[in-house]
Amino acid sequence: MPEPLIFQRSSPGRRGYSLPDASTPEVTLDPALQREDLELPEVSEFEVVRHYTRLSQENRAIDTAFYPLGSCTMKYNPKVNEEVASLRGVRRVHPYTPGTEVQGALQVMYDLQSILAQVGGLDAVSLLPAAGAHGELTGMLVIRAHHEHRGDVQRQTVIVADSAHGTNPATAAMAGYTVRTVQSDARGNVDLDALKSLVDHETAGMMLTNPNTLGLFDENIEEVCRIVHDAGGLMYGDGANMNAMTGIATPGDLGFDVLHFNLHKTFSTPHGGGGPGAGPIAVRDFLAPYLPDPVIRAEPTEDGTHYAFDTPKRTIGKVRSLWGNYAVLARAYTYMRHHGADGLRANSVHAVLNANYLGSLLKADYELRYDRPCMHEFVLSGSKQKRHGVRTVDMAKRIMDFGFHPPTIYFPLIVEESMLIEPTESESKQTLDEFAEAMRTIAHEAETAPGRIKSAPNETHLRRLDETTAARRPDLAYVREQRVVQENK
Ligand SMILES: *Cc1c(COP(=O)(O)O)cnc(C)c1O
Repeated sequence: MPEPLIFQRSSPGRRGYSLPDASTPEVTLDPALQREDLELPEVSEFEVVRHYTRLSQENRAIDTAFYPLGSCTMKYNPKVNEEVASLRGVRRVHPYTPGTEVQGALQVMYDLQSILAQVGGLDAVSLLPAAGAHGELTGMLVIRAHHEHRGDVQRQTVIVADSAHGTNPATAAMAGYTVRTVQSDARGNVDLDALKSLVDHETAGMMLTNPNTLGLFDENIEEVCRIVHDAGGLMYGDGANMNAMTGIATPGDLGFDVLHFNLHKTFSTPHGGGGPGAGPIAVRDFLAPYLPDPVIRAEPTEDGTHYAFDTPKRTIGKVRSLWGNYAVLARAYTYMRHHGADGLRANSVHAVLNANYLGSLLKADYELRYDRPCMHEFVLSGSKQKRHGVRTVDMAKRIMDFGFHPPTIYFPLIVEESMLIEPTESESKQTLDEFAEAMRTIAHEAETAPGRIKSAPNETHLRRLDETTAARRPDLAYVREQRVVQENK
């Protein structure tokens, strides 16, 4: 029996705080700043604690359950990352403190730039972008600035794969480009003939995720890069899937010129719910002058290395206030130093192994659309189950009854009834076996008791919600009457 909503527990005069007696004279707040319509609940501190703790328990979270949300790399976030992020010297450093007084913080950022350049196989790094999508925009503006500086202004199109994450075409459009979509071939690679017919003197570049969102490493990746380069375009790498190849291969070696990292995915800082992340970009040396302002540079001096902010010569300017999401950068840095090069490589190897193991357990019951070795994630289609009237969304709801977070569904768009499953390296064989068992049970139910799947979730606090309304008309502000009606539904 859930506790009643905190708003229903409100009792006039109850307080969640106590203030000391004022030692300064009382003043009356300007009436223009006063509001009577906030209707905040009057509750004790303890009730507030219970309220938020209860809400947190109604969520599925990586710290409570297996979370195979494909493309999102929901791996374990080691608690040592949090410990470092909460050290006084990290937590309390003020963004306006002069760089000369926070050399340690600058060194962390400088070292992180160097590590990311190595992992990407590229030369220069900006830590500023606040998320992957923001890194994409920053990277595309860098590419744009490069072409414009050379007077190559007729390059107005960007090629995007049909398997791309929606942020790729959105970013290209935001950067002012016309988007042209290239098809995938039957093996899930970029279709080379289609690509050749799309590139010309107007091609500014191509945005590509590799391994792609089908969980497949493009078997012709070097050829893809060559075709785009021969036409005078640049290759933008969406690095969301770096968890498959960190320490094994570098995008720079494959032919990419710009790459973003999702530190909150590959390098294990908490994410979800749109919380803070970081999407640094790495670029080839000839693009370094265009990076956003500032980057961190190191100078050897008589008493050791000195770190300072630097404005790249032909910078695209500011993309974010101050110096980036420093607490996220510190967590990712901790994670990388904690694992070391060998550890990061081992993580990728195990992520790929786990995905292939889980895929092999499920392919008897579900259609495995591209039956070749996958990278760190794989795509199932719910097409077999659809014949029994059960859709992928229904199965995703049913998975919650088994205590798991559902996989990504209906993405990638090019596979019917798709489920994108990414187990990550953090999970044990035991957990993967348990998940496979639940998935097999659901496949069996689709044939014998589809109603149980159609009515799912059956075990959660709230049942099936109207997702369209939730997305299109989210109720973000408390209004007493509405809230009560919704909860009782
Ligand atoms: C997550 C993701 C993005 C966007 O990254 P954010 O950090 O969420 O902005 C872009 N492309 C792919 C393939 C992704 O998985």
